[in-house]
Amino acid sequence: MEYKKLLKNQAFVNGKWVQATAGKSFDVTNPATGEIISTVPDMTREDVRHAIDAAHTAWPDYRALTAKERAALLRRWFDLIIEYKEELAHLMTLESGKVMTESLGEVAYGAAFIEWFSEEAKRTYGDVIPAPTPDKRMVVIKQAIGVVAAITPWNFPLAMITRKVGPALAAGCPVIVKVPSETPLTGLALAYLAEQAGFPKGVYNTLTSKDSGGIGKELCEHPHIRKLSFTGSTPVGKILMEQSASTLKKLSLELGGNAPFIVFDDADLDEAVQGALVSKFRHNGQTCVCVNRILVQDSVYDAFLEKFTKAVQGLKTGDVLEKATQIGPLINQKGLEKVQEHIKDAQTKGATITTGGKVKEGLFFQPTVLAGATPDMLIAREEVFGPVAPIFKFKTEEEAIQLANDTEYGLASYFYSQNVNRCWRVAEALEYGMVGINEGLISTEVAPFGGIKESGFGREGSKYGMDYYMEMKYLCFGGVQ
Ligand code: NAP
Repeated sequence: MEYKKLLKNQAFVNGKWVQATAGKSFDVTNPATGEIISTVPDMTREDVRHAIDAAHTAWPDYRALTAKERAALLRRWFDLIIEYKEELAHLMTLESGKVMTESLGEVAYGAAFIEWFSEEAKRTYGDVIPAPTPDKRMVVIKQAIGVVAAITPWNFPLAMITRKVGPALAAGCPVIVKVPSETPLTGLALAYLAEQAGFPKGVYNTLTSKDSGGIGKELCEHPHIRKLSFTGSTPVGKILMEQSASTLKKLSLELGGNAPFIVFDDADLDEAVQGALVSKFRHNGQTCVCVNRILVQDSVYDAFLEKFTKAVQGLKTGDVLEKATQIGPLINQKGLEKVQEHIKDAQTKGATITTGGKVKEGLFFQPTVLAGATPDMLIAREEVFGPVAPIFKFKTEEEAIQLANDTEYGLASYFYSQNVNRCWRVAEALEYGMVGINEGLISTEVAPFGGIKESGFGREGSKYGMDYYMEMKYLCFGGVQ
């Protein structure tokens, strides 16, 4: 198998492939089959400190490279990721259960951040400020923030890394990536390609561990880490924020969501069905921007439900390596149990299943639609993170907005309407960092990705992305004659 060239069973620290200093390791399994794919080092806080020392030592020389030199390194890395896209996608599918077509999509999406930030590296402009007195000149410059730590989740084993390290490396910051224990192999393969691209020793480091709590604490508390960028759940984000207080570490937190998808009576129903389908069932419902609640206006509720149920019945479950397969397994038993718990809770509170509702085999769960969902159900409040679409009913635009905003989360939201006035009104009223209007897929490297409220803060991608990895410095020249 070609992907084996990228299959690593060691971590990457200071330009070397290493085992854990304590000598321990853990298995990585395939959620579709339960088979062990590889074994990787179970690192400890001591290993983290080695990586921090290496990155801190590498920083002065790395930040002294010209922007053009850093851009060239990133471009080489991008080219290698594209060259190995099939192998990376294969590895990703094996360890995450993401279906092959989506894994290929993630490699392209993730690589695009490296390409984008290789270009942005050369555009970190400052400002010249008109001075208030004749003898002064005032300038603002931007400089690399320092060593950056990145902690990433299993549901996007590649793109959540590149969204963070792309801007960090472009700005002149060495990085330490703590990859998720469920899916460390794609991240290690990325490290291998970064090594091939020629990043200097210590600039790119990747750690694997089962002790995510201990590793996280070291990264938060160590003064040489100047910035921590985290993507994952809101409870873990809160722990990291608390732990970072002692060093006042700069943070970017990309956390959980509870995305509403509103279908108004003036929507194109067929388009809304397609939008809801792709947004809900992407990676089997296991993304932070996946639709969690579908809110439909009462006059089109039955028609939408019928069309949507039919569309969901057409989704193809099966061998994740087959390019035609659309639905794979859930990541683990805990994820499967959460789906079952949400369905049971919804049923006891009056919801009915129009399709699905059962385990197919192992960690595979049937794509499910729940009619008659109400705000008192668990699924209305928490991310289900699985292939379950609850359909709620509303009467007026005000009620839809109130229902949509009735959550502590504020990441992605979606709505369908053909009325341009309503489109503006609703887009402005939704308390979310991102709004899809007549569109179910919104992620791209050119636009700012991120949330508000308890979905976190910071933005990834776009022309704003670099700012989170740079400090602004004001220079005041006095006594100018
Ligand atoms: P998670 O449990 O928060 O884990 C995310 C990462 O944090 C993993 O690398 C995990 O390591 C690590 N971690 C866990 N506990 C930690 C601790 N106490 N200290 C430091 N690190 C710790 O989340 P998940 O279940 O993997 O991912 C799903 C969540 O991520 C969902 O809530 C989803 O909405 C969110 N997400 C958000 C975005 C976004 O851009 N906003 C994107 C994707 C996913 P281990 O894997 O080794 O435990």
